[in-house]
Amino acid sequence: MSSTTGSCLCEQISVAVTKEALGAADKTAVCRCKNCRQSGGSLASIVLIAPESSVKITGQPKIYQDTNTNSGKPVQRAFCGNCGSPIYTASHTMPGMLMIKLGLFDEIPKPAMELFCKARPTWDKAIDGAKQFDTVPK
Ligand SMILES: [Zn+2]
Ligand SMILES: [Zn+2]
Repeated sequence: MSSTTGSCLCEQISVAVTKEALGAADKTAVCRCKNCRQSGGSLASIVLIAPESSVKITGQPKIYQDTNTNSGKPVQRAFCGNCGSPIYTASHTMPGMLMIKLGLFDEIPKPAMELFCKARPTWDKAIDGAKQFDTVPK
């Protein structure tokens, strides 16, 4: 199956996602929660929510167990232990799915959703055309 590959900054870890999964435009989200900001040192994270079966990870990411979450359930944050790039997040609230960090890829699809909008800085704008959620959709 044809896929698109992204990698961390130092290229020790690569992530191949099937074109089919990457093309699921309604599965892309910008997450503005504070945990995503801190783990990326940035304004937000941008992710593709993809079934594990459509993702192939090469290399050995480190896993940080993030227990200070909004849901109260731990979230696994995978990152490169060499360069620190966030790779994916996995949550018990979404079994079998990985939230792949789209910043690893050359082409970034437009996000369909914007999550935890309450945490958006007042000087920043909502993403035009993206569905806005105060937290995460049920
Ligand atoms: Zn790396
Ligand atoms: Zn988040």
